[in-house]
Amino acid sequence: MPRFLVTLAVLVLFVAPLSNAQGPSCDFCRRSIAGELSAHAVALPDGRRLCERCAATSVTTTHGAKDVASLVSSSLDAHGVRVGIDGITFLLAGRDQLHQMSPDPVRHTLGFIDPESPKTHQPAHCKITVLHGMPELQMASVLAHQMMHVWLVRAGVRAVGTPWIEGSCEYASFLVMSDVNTPEAQFVIHNLAANADSVCGDGFRAVQQFVAKHGVEGWLDALAPPPAGE
Ligand SMILES: [Zn+2]
Ligand SMILES: [Zn+2]
Repeated sequence: MPRFLVTLAVLVLFVAPLSNAQGPSCDFCRRSIAGELSAHAVALPDGRRLCERCAATSVTTTHGAKDVASLVSSSLDAHGVRVGIDGITFLLAGRDQLHQMSPDPVRHTLGFIDPESPKTHQPAHCKITVLHGMPELQMASVLAHQMMHVWLVRAGVRAVGTPWIEGSCEYASFLVMSDVNTPEAQFVIHNLAANADSVCGDGFRAVQQFVAKHGVEGWLDALAPPPAGE
């Protein structure tokens, strides 16, 4: 079967439960938890539910988040986005805690970054807070977004919340998910591309078009122009 048909079949499989879900559904993949997936479903303390498959890779420790961040860092590095995990503190928070801590709780339901005020010419130290319990793949996607914010802060770009900036961070998730390239990663990519949000969704589509024309290097240069003379 041609590759795109396989992808399409996979997407239909993943998206189908959305339309006919009965009863509780997994807070991450939206599969219905009724029936065979209910046996090992997990309820998190803040009321979220994970199906058996998502619960199997649920990230519940900062150590676990850091391991995922290392993989994300290598993946981004291969695309020329050099972030690394040094100088980043990783924190996990439950849904309500994240809501209270976030500077933009409406948009930051999965994670956000706190850059420390730059005091020296050292790379800025940043704190990334992400939602506790996310399955590994979603954790990777969220960390890629937040680590792109770190890249931007370190490149001297302080703007947040615009379609171009948030779309660029979504594009970093897309790069990592393209490397993972499992049916679940294709599902995450589908959601990035279909996001109706005027900032993240429109921004992602604009960045995707920009990269198609100018390449990843052109995109990074447009985000943070290299100093004159280089
Ligand atoms: Zn699930
Ligand atoms: Zn963001």
